[in-house]
Amino acid sequence: EMHVMLLSCCVLVLLMPGPCFTAPTLISGTESSPSTQPPVDLKLAAVSIAYGPSFTSKMKDMQIFFGLNATGVLNSETLEVMTSPRCGVPDVEEYSHIQGTRWNKNVITYRYLLYTRDLPRNTVDSLIASAFNVWAKASGLTFVRSHTNNADIMVEFVTSNHGDMYPFDGPRGTLAHAFGPGLGVGGDTHFDDDEHWTAGERGFNLFLVAAHEFGHALGLKHSRNPDSLMYPTYKSSRSANLLSREDVANINTLYSKLL
Ligand SMILES: [Zn+2]
Ligand SMILES: [Zn+2]
Repeated sequence: EMHVMLLSCCVLVLLMPGPCFTAPTLISGTESSPSTQPPVDLKLAAVSIAYGPSFTSKMKDMQIFFGLNATGVLNSETLEVMTSPRCGVPDVEEYSHIQGTRWNKNVITYRYLLYTRDLPRNTVDSLIASAFNVWAKASGLTFVRSHTNNADIMVEFVTSNHGDMYPFDGPRGTLAHAFGPGLGVGGDTHFDDDEHWTAGERGFNLFLVAAHEFGHALGLKHSRNPDSLMYPTYKSSRSANLLSREDVANINTLYSKLL
């Protein structure tokens, strides 16, 4: 099961006031601001209050992860990377573990629960199948579409609160998240349907985001290497080789004894 590391989730919740936003003085501060975005120092205050004493070390971890100055202080540079369009799987404290759990089989099934209306269904089907194929080609795993309740990976497009502990945040910010291999929610992959999903370069490319998320659904963690598909922030342009050498090595190490 996925580790609950709340840093990135909570930050996004705090920045975009929602049901979890519980600091009244910060809400009134936001309301008195003429801009819709709270000023950076207000964001810093909110984040610091939320994390207390462990804040500095968590912030350092995150800064190291993204190759920033590891000051332990949340500055605007750090805030920018934390709020850029990215995967919602918490990455702080996870980058030290390259591998997670894995499926104990090499045929993995997936099922759609809810589609997006941004794209025709057959386009979604083909983009999702292509995203699975990225990993199939590299690993020898096989992905089979299923229509049964016991499919391994449930794929759905949802918004805001959607039944897990990780509400989405409206447009931009968190784009999607996926649970590592396991029973129940294990492997399930959720896309924020408040994003504009596309098959091209405008909005967010569903194939690219899905390929990244399926890496998590197979047990891979985030990578600090910007060339890795498992780097947490969204990049619209990628080379023909979607997977870095590291990605290929990681998926094969994870599933090597099985195949
Ligand atoms: Zn991710
Ligand atoms: Zn979710």
